[in-house]
Amino acid sequence: MNRLFVFLSIPVVLSAASCAKQPAVDTPITPETVQRTVDALVANHGEGLRSRAERGVAQTATLWRSADGTVADFEAFCQQRFVADETARRVLFDKLSNGLEHLYGYAIMLSKDLQRPVHLAGDELTDIDGRFAAFDTQAHLSDDLFANQIGFIAALNFPAYTLVEKQQLGGNWTRLDWAYARMGDLFSSRVPAAQQQTYTAANAAADAYISEYNINLGYLLDTDGSRPFPEDLTLISHWGLRDEIKAQYANANGGLARQQLIYEVMLRIIDQSIPQQVINSKQYLWNPRTNTIEAQGQSVRATSEPNTRYQHLLNQFHAQLAIDAYTPDKPTFIQRQFDGNLELTVDEVERLFIELVSSAEVRQLAGIIEQRLGRKLQPFDIWYDGFNARSTISADLLERTTCSRYPNAETLERELPNILMQLGFSQPKAQFIAQRVRVETARGAGHAWGAEMRNHDAALLRSRMPQGGMDYKGFNIAMHEFGHTVEQTITLHDVDYYTMHGVPNTAFTEALAFVFQKRDLQVLGLGQGGGDAMANAAATMSNLWGCFEIMGVSLVDIGVWRWLYANPQADAEQLKQAVLRIAKEVWNAHYSDVFGQTDVPLLAIYSHMIYYPLYLSAYPIGHLIDFQLEQHFVGRYFAAEVERIFKQGRLDPQLWMQRGVGQPLSVQPLLTAARKAMEQNIE
Ligand SMILES: [Zn+2]
Repeated sequence: MNRLFVFLSIPVVLSAASCAKQPAVDTPITPETVQRTVDALVANHGEGLRSRAERGVAQTATLWRSADGTVADFEAFCQQRFVADETARRVLFDKLSNGLEHLYGYAIMLSKDLQRPVHLAGDELTDIDGRFAAFDTQAHLSDDLFANQIGFIAALNFPAYTLVEKQQLGGNWTRLDWAYARMGDLFSSRVPAAQQQTYTAANAAADAYISEYNINLGYLLDTDGSRPFPEDLTLISHWGLRDEIKAQYANANGGLARQQLIYEVMLRIIDQSIPQQVINSKQYLWNPRTNTIEAQGQSVRATSEPNTRYQHLLNQFHAQLAIDAYTPDKPTFIQRQFDGNLELTVDEVERLFIELVSSAEVRQLAGIIEQRLGRKLQPFDIWYDGFNARSTISADLLERTTCSRYPNAETLERELPNILMQLGFSQPKAQFIAQRVRVETARGAGHAWGAEMRNHDAALLRSRMPQGGMDYKGFNIAMHEFGHTVEQTITLHDVDYYTMHGVPNTAFTEALAFVFQKRDLQVLGLGQGGGDAMANAAATMSNLWGCFEIMGVSLVDIGVWRWLYANPQADAEQLKQAVLRIAKEVWNAHYSDVFGQTDVPLLAIYSHMIYYPLYLSAYPIGHLIDFQLEQHFVGRYFAAEVERIFKQGRLDPQLWMQRGVGQPLSVQPLLTAARKAMEQNIE
């Protein structure tokens, strides 16, 4: 199973060896050239166009390389391709939008097809599957768009605005102003294909590593020699392990001991003392407390996993370091992820998270959980989920319901319109959306993957689908992924301009995924979709506890990347030590008082830290948005509001919130409501 990693990591490791800062990009354009070009445009078209000319020429200059032409070529290009007339500019915009939709749309479709073997359950993977999965269909797209000048034409006529400018000006923009500014965002940097492809390969290798990282719980030994889990229980780290901890709260008979055993497994994954022999293998029995393994009653020498987890993270860091020089307005991966992708600064996000994790409300809630459990909290109680209505429904009934209703992917796909109508969507809308979603059986934990073009392609809903039918856990995740595909479909097909399609950042798609996931019992006919005060109080407390967990993980993720930029020469062992230290620091600052233990590294268990790094912050922000959405839905028509709000497309996050739910992104509404919920709910 590790063959894939070995092959894919070779080119990554080689390029990482020469990862010193790149030299400045090679361009003949000087500030004087820019000024002269702007003056000439103003002389031709009038003073009224000065600010548009200044912005467009400046952006084009940052993208122009010596290989694109001389200073004279640049000046001639700007004179010839600057479109002064607004009607002609609109025609250009529409034609650019149409062309880009096809280029991006087919590229994504091709990527999806190439990655099918890696993403879908099926044959054993071979080397060639990994190579196709790592093949980046968009790697040369940007180069080609600049080579034939489409990128320069777009940048010159539809320049980008910084995050701060969007926040200051965007409230007064028309939809078309926003659509033009989003066109500019598409061509605000120019990363060479080689650097981009190196990162894609490193990320794909990490993805494959995590997808195959299964722990066979049936082969775990407890101290008394017992095997407390069913023989065939195989769970993916860390999501499956975490969900099993959650499920064991309902097990009064030995649930706590099982939770503790899984916790020991997690600690061994984090510090890499886990025996290599037990990862994705049923050959050995493993006692995670003593860290000993045996086969046929004979003790076997265990070999620890050789920091593979951290090597994957390091490979991705090196690949990002090589990209830095090509994004002068956002020269680190941290800035690209936060200012660029989230459109919130890392400091803004960190302040928001610390405000919540250090709040008095979290401490009050911890007291309620202790009362309910009748014991002191332990670190894994960070995943306590006894607030949810589903914990009172027997696991057996849930399994029987999902297994019989959704025996396979085809049935689930056929049922999608009914699920939407149960949630209040009209029949035509339910049909429209469901026709644009395909259900497939995932190899890993499941995911959703939207389309980038309105014709020809559909959103993919990938879910685990065991032989005997879908289990409840799988269905719950499938509802999450379905939420993603509904968002992807509405924001592609119902938004007025192609460049505005989508959501402000991934947190917004997570928010709708959470909203759908919470309505799983309603869809199964086993619970309500809200409206009941006690259920709402429980949901609010659950949301607060969920934010407390994942914001801590995000603070670790952020801390690790700051450390990487401060220590670019680190090796995998040094990175591991840093991750352990940072995780313990975050724990000691905001968690140790709640759990009564210090130096716990548990917050480093998240698999998303290892692939798609710095994506994690989108989850807790997604939780905040989810909560603000849920408050907004009360007393309103759910499906109609989902359509109205998500049709806004890619405004900046705060404007989207303001217009969507009437308030900016904030932890305060959640904390205030949690105080009320706890008053109502104290037993
Ligand atoms: Zn999601």
